[in-house]
Amino acid sequence: AKAQGRDGIIVFNEALAKRVEYHLELERRLYFALEHNEIDLRYQPQMNSSKELVGCEVLVRWRNDKFGFVPPAEFIGIAEKTGLIIELGHYIMEESFKTLQTWDAQGIELEQFSINLSVRQFFNSDFLNQVEALAEKYLSDRTRKKVVFEVTETILIEDMYKIIAIMNKLRRIGISFSLDDFGTGYSSLSSLRQMPIDELKVDRTFVSHINKYESDKLMITTILAMAKIFNLKTVAEGVENEEQFEFLKSNGCNLFQGFYFSKALEHRAFETFYLNNREQ
Ligand code: C2E
Ligand code: CA
Ligand code: CA
Ligand code: CA
Repeated sequence: AKAQGRDGIIVFNEALAKRVEYHLELERRLYFALEHNEIDLRYQPQMNSSKELVGCEVLVRWRNDKFGFVPPAEFIGIAEKTGLIIELGHYIMEESFKTLQTWDAQGIELEQFSINLSVRQFFNSDFLNQVEALAEKYLSDRTRKKVVFEVTETILIEDMYKIIAIMNKLRRIGISFSLDDFGTGYSSLSSLRQMPIDELKVDRTFVSHINKYESDKLMITTILAMAKIFNLKTVAEGVENEEQFEFLKSNGCNLFQGFYFSKALEHRAFETFYLNNREQ
């Protein structure tokens, strides 16, 4: 029994060591992911209350030889910690702007085009210049107005006035802002009031439990009512069924995103989805 106990401990240590090793290996590989062309973008449709495709969220994907597909939840954190997020974020933004430009030229009419941002990117001294340069290179005055940057609530607890100044400069070139994962973090009403944001994203965790917990229903109706007071557009993420869609819709939610409509699609698949949606 003793020996078994010891084995138990050894097994546990091995599992932990493997985990650490896995992370170090991911970190090493992430340095080469861009030059190896392993980073791709997907576009998840956003629908209005009439189920018409009106926007999308860009979601990053990383596939490599050793581990196959690595979820962003695993590598975005590493990229932030190592500073690689600056280069990765720039790449994501450039590719996103190119796509927006291409689709606009093809007559794919979207109202908005959302890109996730990390706080680290915001605090990079060159960030503003980089965005302005990319917008200058790829976007017209009209397409710029479709760009939405999704930021998380953590951004609110950092140097708020510096952040607001950067946001306002970006707003001047036409970009708007969405507060992501709303309700999960340290949001306060006063910071919400002060932030120059245009949209709130209702987090998936609340949406997925709509059918189960009254408290999540209440959370959602409260967020949607609050958004109305602050005059913010609302997007619900993780909408997986008709019941969730109807509940959100009846409570005034503006846009809907989730597997009920579509997962995140490759470039071409998104174009097909758009055309099929238009024909309906
Ligand atoms: P997020 O911004 O909250 O993105 C929503 C996540 O929910 C995505 O996972 C999406 O694929 C997933 N999702 C969408 N609809 C449904 C649904 O109906 N059911 C379920 N179960 N899941 C759904 P993904 O792509 O794995 O992204 C995870 C997180 O990684 C994102 O959360 C975001 O925080 C981060 N991320 C993704 N792409 C980028 C990026 O380009 N830049 C940065 N900085 N972060 C990114
Ligand atoms: Ca590629
Ligand atoms: Ca997001
Ligand atoms: Ca979320």
